[in-house]
Amino acid sequence: MSGNEEFYTALRKLISFRSVLSAAKPEMPFGEGVYSAYRYFMDLAEKWGFETINYDNYMGEIVYGEGEEIGIIGHVDVVPEGNGWHSDPYTLTEKDGFLFGRGLGDDKGPMLAVLYALKALKESGKKCSKKFRLFVGCDEESGWRDVEYFSRKYKFPTYGFSPDGNFPLSYAEKGITIIKFYLPALKGFYGLTGGTVVNAVCGYASVKIKGFNEMNKSQREEEKRRLAENKLTVTEDGVIESVGKSAHGSKPELGVNALKPLFEYFLSKGEDVGNVIDYLFNDKGGLKNLENGQGNVTLSPDLAEEKDGGIILTCDCRIPAPLNTSDVEKIIKTFGLKYTLSIKHPPVMVGKDTELVEKLLKAYNFVTGENAAPIAIGGSTFARVFEKGCAFGAEFPAEDAHLHEPDERISIENLEKLIDIYKTALFLLAE
Ligand SMILES: [Zn+2]
Repeated sequence: MSGNEEFYTALRKLISFRSVLSAAKPEMPFGEGVYSAYRYFMDLAEKWGFETINYDNYMGEIVYGEGEEIGIIGHVDVVPEGNGWHSDPYTLTEKDGFLFGRGLGDDKGPMLAVLYALKALKESGKKCSKKFRLFVGCDEESGWRDVEYFSRKYKFPTYGFSPDGNFPLSYAEKGITIIKFYLPALKGFYGLTGGTVVNAVCGYASVKIKGFNEMNKSQREEEKRRLAENKLTVTEDGVIESVGKSAHGSKPELGVNALKPLFEYFLSKGEDVGNVIDYLFNDKGGLKNLENGQGNVTLSPDLAEEKDGGIILTCDCRIPAPLNTSDVEKIIKTFGLKYTLSIKHPPVMVGKDTELVEKLLKAYNFVTGENAAPIAIGGSTFARVFEKGCAFGAEFPAEDAHLHEPDERISIENLEKLIDIYKTALFLLAE
């Protein structure tokens, strides 16, 4: 830990706050834990001689330099620790060359590394040609209400990066559009329900068979046999269950959608769901062919419910820039299904040849000795608050940092590297 003692002392303290969202209190919109971590971070910045702005404890800003604005955004809130830790989640613990603690990689460690880099820049006395605006988020993990509060009155800079993703650097993030398809009620089934959230592949779905109780034994046996052929099971009271495998909405190909076998069964029983299977599950419309060289459009029917005498299938649709929702809608229109769509986030893309991307990548490659190129991702990071935003770190490609899991960790070697990367990046940008 040579040379960076001040960083580690501050990190130990920052990790010690259990900054998990809790009930709001006066002046503490996200509860006491988040407030304490936030206050500590802002006080530290003031102690290190920075100008700070407090947006009513929803978000903070730390400012340095004069010139073209570069935004940086991360957060000090964390997800709950959960079970299964081998050390106290809120005590920075060293073991076998690793540090452990909730928030080490997401996102307290990286945020502190950025502040520490700003401090080094300031103390170097070098002329700084940029105005760095470091935004300290407090609600990234729970609903982005910090961003919403700030955006009501103020504007983020156009260009910026977030140390809340992965190295080397993602220059593009897919947009998210939520599409709801409205189907008429089924003739032979009722009570269809499936999925938990729209951004996760439906891992479990169920539906009830109409008139199951009136069936005689042999009819029930016949139904069971046909269901088994479709890899479905039925309970004693006529509930068909389908088990798939959940996966993140940005990567539906990693999951198994539990709704698909149900709809295939509906079709085999004469229900009018052919279009649903063809277009929503088998991509007959060719949405996958819409791509930007780094990724393609995905459509995942993740939620099913019965409402107002019909069925609503809610789909998570991810769209890579420079494509947008209207490109997708041209295809959706041909499905012959009633739908509505709402744009959650438009796709984001920073030009690969912008000064920001070039210098950040140069810093990464300089410190690691790699020759990495920028990547595009399907997920969504804090970087999207900037119109031209990129995620830059802090998880290394070959690292298993256990983010959002027990034993969140980073190797000391990588932590030293990331401190160095952010320092190098800010010095390059300041030139
Ligand atoms: Zn994060």
